[in-house]
Amino acid sequence: MAAVTAPVDPGLYGDIRRFGGGDVTACFSCGTCTATCPLVAEDGTFPRRIIRYAQVGMKDALLSSKELWTCYQCGECSDSCPTKADPSEFMAAARRYAIAGYDRTRVARTMYTQPILATIIAVALALFFALFMYSAHGPQSGETLAIFTFIPEELIHNTGIVVMIVVLLAGIAGVATMARAIARREGVSLRSVVGGRAALGRTARALRFAVAREAIGQARFREDCDADQQALPLLRRRWLIHALVVWGFIGLLGATGLDYGLALVGIKETGAPVPLWYPVRLLGTVAGAALLYGTTFLIIDRYRAATRAVRSSTTADWMLLVLLWVTGATGFALELELYLPSAPAWGYWVFLLHVAVALELVLLAPFMKLAHAVYRPVALFFVALARDSAREGVTR
Ligand code: SF4
Ligand code: SF4
Repeated sequence: MAAVTAPVDPGLYGDIRRFGGGDVTACFSCGTCTATCPLVAEDGTFPRRIIRYAQVGMKDALLSSKELWTCYQCGECSDSCPTKADPSEFMAAARRYAIAGYDRTRVARTMYTQPILATIIAVALALFFALFMYSAHGPQSGETLAIFTFIPEELIHNTGIVVMIVVLLAGIAGVATMARAIARREGVSLRSVVGGRAALGRTARALRFAVAREAIGQARFREDCDADQQALPLLRRRWLIHALVVWGFIGLLGATGLDYGLALVGIKETGAPVPLWYPVRLLGTVAGAALLYGTTFLIIDRYRAATRAVRSSTTADWMLLVLLWVTGATGFALELELYLPSAPAWGYWVFLLHVAVALELVLLAPFMKLAHAVYRPVALFFVALARDSAREGVTR
């Protein structure tokens, strides 16, 4: 790991506190949290080193820290902290701070640190998308639910493309900023990632670890960060609820993409009636059920502060959950309407709400907690790369 020599930012800790989290000024680096953390096998200074960065104002070190993203917020460290510094909540706040730090537009900072303005922005965006779609509306058939006669498919499609372009530009810029900072600090060059067969092998293994094992498989969340949940039924365990949200979201994106893909190659028109067992419909139904189940229990647990991982919540936490839940619930209601013998008028308004909120959710993704779905695998890629390189004695 390269030495970190950067100017000290005395306002760093105060700034991170604006993103939530407890008061870690009480931390005296005793190391109890390190002894407790289930992930510590890989790093004997985690998580107190991250806390130290904030205490002494090492902003660049914090933003280039791949370890920040390995934490699954199980809360064990907070339970064991003798000074009640709440390191778990601090880590969550530091990740919010990092998402805002990688985002050059400052939208993420606004969403996290100005809850009233963030709420106004969220409501205004939903209204904007709904009114924009409604401005081109057609007739509402009462015989069958002709949703694409009501709101033209091309308008939704083209708006979706514009939203995706914005999201990709913002997302790629943020990920590039993060990856550059970590790579510079870790001394990882392009050659050490793709230069030669051995490097390509390490890269492939790191990608498999980050994407397949962790992002999709939720392996360490399930194996290491679930200690206080063992007595609960499987369907109420935190790792599975989180995994269902991840799998549901990926599944719905896949079903939407496949639906458009089938229309492009002329196999099925978008919105054409199909039986429930039609593969794309089935994928959407199962993914929607997973998303709705997962977000419902995340909301319940957060409302009750039921687990030590969700003792405190920010407006941004709630906003993301509400957007996910509304997207899932309206999607299901829409599916139900499609199989009804007639077309209820409310079906068209549910469709309008579904489209508006789904577009908003995608547009805000790089600026909200949802961004961790990309940032965490990127950081874990570097974690795996560093581990493999050290094991093989590779100088990067
Ligand atoms: S956060 Fe608490 S447990 Fe961890 S090093 Fe600081 S005082 Fe010790
Ligand atoms: S919340 Fe859990 S995973 Fe995160 S630092 Fe604390 S003990 Fe480790």
